[in-house]
Amino acid sequence: MILTMKKETKKISTDVLVVGGGTAGFAAAIAAARNGAKVILVEQHDYLGGTLSGGMVNMIRSMRHMQGPKDLEDKKMKIAGYESSYVDQQLVYSVAQEFVDRMIDAASAWGIKGQAATRQFFDPEMAKMIIEQMVQEAGVEIWYYSQTTDVLKSDSSVNGIVVENLKERIEINAKVTIDATGDGDVCANAGASYVLGNEGHCQPLTLYFTIDNVNFDKILQYMQEHADDIGREYVKRIVQLREEEKPLTLLPFKSKIKEALENGDYPLPYNAEKLVLETLTYMVRPQFKNGKMRYNLVSVNHDMAYNIDATDRIQLTKATIAMRDIAVKMAAFYRKYIPGFEDSYLAYTAPFVGIRDTRRIIGDYYLTSEDVLSGRAFEDGIGRYGSVADVHDKDGGKKQIMLSEVGGQGWFHIPYRTMLPKGIDNLLVAGRCVSADYIAQGCTRSQAACIVTGQAAGTAAALAIKAGVKPREVNITELQKVLTQQNQII
Ligand SMILES: Cc1cc2nc3c(=O)[nH]c(=O)nc-3n(C[C@H](O)[C@H](O)[C@H](O)COP(=O)(O)OP(=O)(O)OC[C@H]3O[C@@H](n4cnc5c(N)ncnc54)[C@H](O)[C@@H]3O)c2cc1C
Repeated sequence: MILTMKKETKKISTDVLVVGGGTAGFAAAIAAARNGAKVILVEQHDYLGGTLSGGMVNMIRSMRHMQGPKDLEDKKMKIAGYESSYVDQQLVYSVAQEFVDRMIDAASAWGIKGQAATRQFFDPEMAKMIIEQMVQEAGVEIWYYSQTTDVLKSDSSVNGIVVENLKERIEINAKVTIDATGDGDVCANAGASYVLGNEGHCQPLTLYFTIDNVNFDKILQYMQEHADDIGREYVKRIVQLREEEKPLTLLPFKSKIKEALENGDYPLPYNAEKLVLETLTYMVRPQFKNGKMRYNLVSVNHDMAYNIDATDRIQLTKATIAMRDIAVKMAAFYRKYIPGFEDSYLAYTAPFVGIRDTRRIIGDYYLTSEDVLSGRAFEDGIGRYGSVADVHDKDGGKKQIMLSEVGGQGWFHIPYRTMLPKGIDNLLVAGRCVSADYIAQGCTRSQAACIVTGQAAGTAAALAIKAGVKPREVNITELQKVLTQQNQII
């Protein structure tokens, strides 16, 4: 039978529509459904979790406040030394903790149930399945393979989106739409104002990759033999973490990068404007899988492409091709230069490119670096986040990664108003694109904060529908009460 296609337009409706099933989106969908709304979750890929799962970013930073001892100036120790600390106050619970607990039950996250670690390591592959289960159990209808192409809008109100798939064009009408696309795509299409990066320059992109068949004992032996060059305290800490079978982060051996650079064997990041060679760095982390740290299987987090506007798909494509090439060359560099990697190989690259920042939507409140670094509390706080603002240099310059400690009590409130796109009704935004300045986004982009904003957006959407009001008119005290009842700390 020979067929020809005529794309039909179908119209459907729901209470809450969550666009983007990533880190914030899955929490938004669960929260809206648990609070009584009929929810559709639209995702362009075929899995949930976004950057957290497909991006292979396998560590939730700072569900627990991570302020280190005051005398700890050594950045290496800061990065290596807090993987497993339970000593400080936990700030984020609820859906985030539930996810961690379910992952622990599935032998897919390191740690103790009910208590997140400051750096909560997990298996990103299993995260896809656990998140899918949680979302389905909440009664959410998942739509994979569905890309948003347009927004349904009348006056200042967003009424849903248009989704195109292979067969149909579908108009999904919703009482409240939540933009959890990471890029603020729905908001931008609805005419919301936004800022992009730091004066248009975004933080570097990373294509996570995994290397298998690493001889970790040999790495440790090399580190112990070169402890004076590498740093005695840091080496001692890494050896201890390995002995205790805990997660750890290995930083590069600078002398090896230097040697490889001299021999032309070290791939330079793509499109960096002001590269300072001495600051080139990467982080190597053993994976946690099936109940154990797998020290022979490591993932690499490496700033690979600079000055890319990831909302420009041509720029993003060029950067992705360059980053895959860098991953292959990095694997060759490890094999040739780093003891313990001689027989290792590139196992896989992430199916989803790691994008640190693109648009940040201007909301009713614009969270500032001052708010974050002074640890400010807000009357409309919907959750807390603390520890550090993690901002990667946009140029590849001297301060390649800036980790600024959150001041005050070590946490700040995320105000509800940062999720309300200015001048637009019935639309909420959650995740890395909430209303915040460049430095404040160093906090709000972290996975814990994205889950917090996702959960709050979903809860607020359901409450608005129940009360017959716009999300902007939701009773804040009521929202905070419901979030607290659901085990979030406000
Ligand atoms: C390299 C890197 C390392 C990081 N390291 C850490 C770390 O160690 N710890 C930490 O806590 N945080 C870390 N982060 C930050 C954190 O992982 C991300 O900021 C966070 O996961 C983003 O969540 P999100 O929900 O905003 O976006 P995402 O998780 O990316 O979700 C967005 C979802 O929307 C979907 N989508 C987008 N557009 C559309 C559309 N038009 N139609 C349908 N679906 C769409 C996407 O497919 C995706 O699933 C890191 C980030 C990067 C990039």
